[in-house]
Amino acid sequence: MHVAVLGAGVIGTTTAWYLREAGHDVTVVERRGGPAQETSFANGGQISVSHAEPWASPGAPAQLLRWLFRPSAPLRFRPRLDPHQWAWGARFLSECRSRRYARNLETVVRLGLYSRACLAALRERTGIEYHQRREGILHFYTDPDVYAGAHEPAARMRALGCEREVIDVADAVAREPALARIQPRLQGATWTPGDESGDARVFTAQLAELAAAQGVRFLFDTQVMGLETQGRAVSGVRLNQSGAFTSLEADAVVVALGSFSAPLLRPLGLHLPVYPARGYSVTVPVRDPDSAYTVSLIDDEFKLVYSRLGDELRVAGMAEIDGWRQDIDPARCQQILERAAHCFPGAGHWGQARFWAGLRPTTPSSIPFVGASSRPGLYLNTGHGTLGWTNACGSAALLRDRIAGEPGALRLDDHGR
Ligand SMILES: Cc1cc2nc3c(=O)[nH]c(=O)nc-3n(C[C@H](O)[C@H](O)[C@H](O)COP(=O)(O)OP(=O)(O)OC[C@H]3O[C@@H](n4cnc5c(N)ncnc54)[C@H](O)[C@@H]3O)c2cc1C
Repeated sequence: MHVAVLGAGVIGTTTAWYLREAGHDVTVVERRGGPAQETSFANGGQISVSHAEPWASPGAPAQLLRWLFRPSAPLRFRPRLDPHQWAWGARFLSECRSRRYARNLETVVRLGLYSRACLAALRERTGIEYHQRREGILHFYTDPDVYAGAHEPAARMRALGCEREVIDVADAVAREPALARIQPRLQGATWTPGDESGDARVFTAQLAELAAAQGVRFLFDTQVMGLETQGRAVSGVRLNQSGAFTSLEADAVVVALGSFSAPLLRPLGLHLPVYPARGYSVTVPVRDPDSAYTVSLIDDEFKLVYSRLGDELRVAGMAEIDGWRQDIDPARCQQILERAAHCFPGAGHWGQARFWAGLRPTTPSSIPFVGASSRPGLYLNTGHGTLGWTNACGSAALLRDRIAGEPGALRLDDHGR
């Protein structure tokens, strides 16, 4: 079967790999000149299964209200004259109900555990290298009340099969000595030893090379203009290759366009609640390898994630529900930079920072769309939000199973609609 995979981010590229492994003839279409040039380019780097709580939680509405009046808040909602933004917001609020939250959390954790196992198996099969570190994730707290509340969510995650312990300051600093600088302000941490980190861009670029060597065809610098249909079935894709309009026939089409999936699907009457949440990252060269962190970190107060990626340090965070703008707000990046330089002054060349912005393709429930759509021949692998790197391999393996008509390890195509 010929499958056209739209998008060569981490989701499209893993999808192409798993489909090729299953014996399909695969073509990937990507508007950029190479893989992982948009949201998969410079994310936080965490393979975070045990810190995967959906944004939509019973406490979220009150928290959002508090943040609404703080310009430096980690999450900003900028109201626009965009009905899709308001519809997304309304669904987000409905996902905050306790029952929905519990269901969504369980699904995200199941997907994460499955995906981490798929990544490990892929690593084993291919020997792929992407600055991976399997040293766990340490989530540190500087607010005593928030730290005191860390026990209940940790127990909840353990009940779902994750390893997540609440540890004291001495234990936190013993696990990551780079935290010694802020030890006087630390209240404690949670520790998830099974979690990992690695460079999503390097992984995606390496996997694309391996896939090409296995016969996957990549059409770069090629814009997807729309989907072709025969009756209700999707039969191909309309393309623009450097001004030349062509079409590509396919037995199946997989939409993996990140935040741009929803606009492409609207003309078919499919209204996916996938909306961009812009985030930022800062990357600097390591200055002193001995004082730079190696354990991947989460800074609870500033909602930032830290990863050591080879000889660089990455710090990422912020979320702005502000449409499809991909430009960088230097003030937001400066905020990240100042916090990182304050916590780990000797670790990086903070004066050489590179700033980046990316659009997380978020769903109100935090559950991605992975599987068949209501149109024959059309499949979805999109809406991975904050955890697309974590859940890429598992989502691609699930999609492969759904295309084969098999149930797979779990079903995600009936979620969040
Ligand atoms: C600041 C930040 C930090 C993050 N940290 C983490 C983390 O630590 N761990 C984690 O698991 N996840 C993290 N994420 C989330 C993760 O990066 C995303 O979920 C993931 O990259 C989404 O991958 P994707 O392939 O769906 O999207 P993308 O990488 O955006 O890929 C979509 C591709 O489609 C292409 N495209 C779009 N429209 C068209 C068109 N019309 N024609 C042709 N091509 C098109 C784009 O060029 C792009 O290459 C973070 C995200 C951000 C922004």
